[in-house]
Amino acid sequence: MDQRILFFTGAGISAESGIPTFQGESGLWNNYDINEVCQYSTWLRNYDKVHTFYNEMRADLKLKEPNHAHKTIAKLQQEFPDKVTIITQNVDDLFERAGCLNVHHLHGEVTKMRCCKCNNSWNIGYQIFDYKNASCPYCNKSDKFKPDIIFFGERAPKYGLLEKLLMPFFELENVVIVIGSSGTVVPIDDIIGSLPCKKILNNLEVSESIKEDIYDKIYYEEATIAIDKITLSITKNR
Ligand code: NAD
Repeated sequence: MDQRILFFTGAGISAESGIPTFQGESGLWNNYDINEVCQYSTWLRNYDKVHTFYNEMRADLKLKEPNHAHKTIAKLQQEFPDKVTIITQNVDDLFERAGCLNVHHLHGEVTKMRCCKCNNSWNIGYQIFDYKNASCPYCNKSDKFKPDIIFFGERAPKYGLLEKLLMPFFELENVVIVIGSSGTVVPIDDIIGSLPCKKILNNLEVSESIKEDIYDKIYYEEATIAIDKITLSITKNR
């Protein structure tokens, strides 16, 4: 395969693994107020609730499995490690569990914790984090910890990486594939709209925050179905 492929993914790619999207009808998000558990200006005020929410999310994630879309992308990346880049807004680890390497998590990872004193983060896996008795493995001085994910209203350091990761997509033959993102949290069209490369979109339905006319091909169907059509179309020229 000569061309480079960038997968830009959101909550929809993990929906068929049983992890609800923001708009989903069921799941964790519906039992909590996002403004309390995912908002930088309020999280310290809601400290207990925040940790309870992400402890539940971690316990739930442990029971989930990567789906066919994660696995197909992993296989493609393993076959063409220098050609396939994965950027995700997701905080789950289903790409890694499918075998993907070097996944760029724009919004952090729920399986990590960050120390509010020294700002180091570390892997905690799926454990229930005992935030009242924990200590930082780096500085041992903190009694405040933050799930290592980016809250609304918080600076997202990984956004700075986007410019570099998108450089190859100024080449016409390369492809950006957006899967499972409504474009409401990250305005993906503004980010990729002016790139001359080919662009493919896969969501379940039309979104007000996505301009269909910037895409060369659109699949409104489950990611586990669309992914085979997408990979076939991009690998047939190899
Ligand atoms: P979103 O919830 O705003 O939109 C989800 C999109 O996925 C929709 O456009 C929908 O049509 C599409 N979709 C739903 N099911 C699909 C399927 N089976 N196949 C293909 N597409 C499907 O998601 P977003 O744009 O990623 O923004 C949500 C924010 O919330 C992000 O920051 C994300 O990190 C976070 N979030 C993450 C998770 C996770 O880590 N799995 C889950 C919920 C929310």
